[in-house]
Amino acid sequence: MGQKWDRNGTAMGQKWDSNGTERNGNRPTLSRTLCCAMIPFRCWMFGVGARRALGEMDGGEMEGQPKILVVDDDRSMRNLVKETLEGLGFVIETANDGVEAVEKIRAAPPDLLILDVMMPKMNGLEVCRIVKSFADDNFIPIILVSVKDDIGSKVTGLKLGADDYLAKPYNPLELRARVASMLRIKSLQDKVNSKRKQLEALSVTDDLTGLCNHRAMHQRLKDEFLRAQRYNDPLSILLVDIDHFKVINDNHGQLFGDLVLTELAKLISGAVRETDSVARYGGEEFLVILPQTHFSGCLPVAERVWRSVAQRDFREGKNASKLTVSVGVAFFPSKNVTSVEQLLANADQAVAQAKREGRNRICLYQHVNYLYNPDAAGDHR
Ligand SMILES: [Mg+2]
Repeated sequence: MGQKWDRNGTAMGQKWDSNGTERNGNRPTLSRTLCCAMIPFRCWMFGVGARRALGEMDGGEMEGQPKILVVDDDRSMRNLVKETLEGLGFVIETANDGVEAVEKIRAAPPDLLILDVMMPKMNGLEVCRIVKSFADDNFIPIILVSVKDDIGSKVTGLKLGADDYLAKPYNPLELRARVASMLRIKSLQDKVNSKRKQLEALSVTDDLTGLCNHRAMHQRLKDEFLRAQRYNDPLSILLVDIDHFKVINDNHGQLFGDLVLTELAKLISGAVRETDSVARYGGEEFLVILPQTHFSGCLPVAERVWRSVAQRDFREGKNASKLTVSVGVAFFPSKNVTSVEQLLANADQAVAQAKREGRNRICLYQHVNYLYNPDAAGDHR
């Protein structure tokens, strides 16, 4: 026909010794002076041990440096947490209140949240509730920190989804250990999520062509059919069957047959609109779902598929072959079409009719099958 078709288709004043134990008074005593002198040494000792304890996790299990968001309205507490975790391979960020924390988490989720409970604007429990309600797969462990050491606030925090609870004043060793523990859990959770996504993708993908598989296609078609019924929208499907595919396998071998199927999948995907879905329906059959598409809208798509296949030379090394396809088209709404099964049956019948008529053609299922010949406009039977 020569016609071109477009495609629309997270206490001030408090003093802490190296163990994090609160102490009062500012006059240094001999023992205190000695203690202070010991701090760098003990920190160094801890640093080595912590790096050993955390090292495997930091470099081996999590990608990059784990990011920790410290949220506290008390600047001295924020600084204390930072100092406690410094030098252990973490990226430490801070927020002054709950509102700022939520904004930062939304913009760039951290790997761990150390969250003060008592804060102005928005308290830590509310932040916890919001973060745990994010509808995504990214697990963000939360350690709630508060001067409240009562059972009630612990229970409330844990009920809201917090993963651990630390009472102020805390011991730096304990904080480090809990951070390491949470990041270990985070790492494991990320791995589980990643594997789950891979398995989900595999369960809906055809190994050979990368298209949706039969099962995924059925669900997609079912969803589209229900939507079409609910909103009185048209829905069309194309069933594309390779003519004489057995001959290709017999003459050129199964590897070449697989190549033909893979190339054809790309070809069909390239010939349909962005809103259409392509699936491998069976051995050498492909299904195209055309949502919100009626009779006149699906014909150009069917024709593009049919033409692009006929024009392609399939070749691999010494093997080369031309190919034709028979295309069956079925519509909704259409007489007697009240289910996905009926719609598919109609497309099946249309393909069978196209085969009977000599293959290499497009057949529209109606009360009486309607053969569409793009090269002989008006010469329809
Ligand atoms: Mg506070």
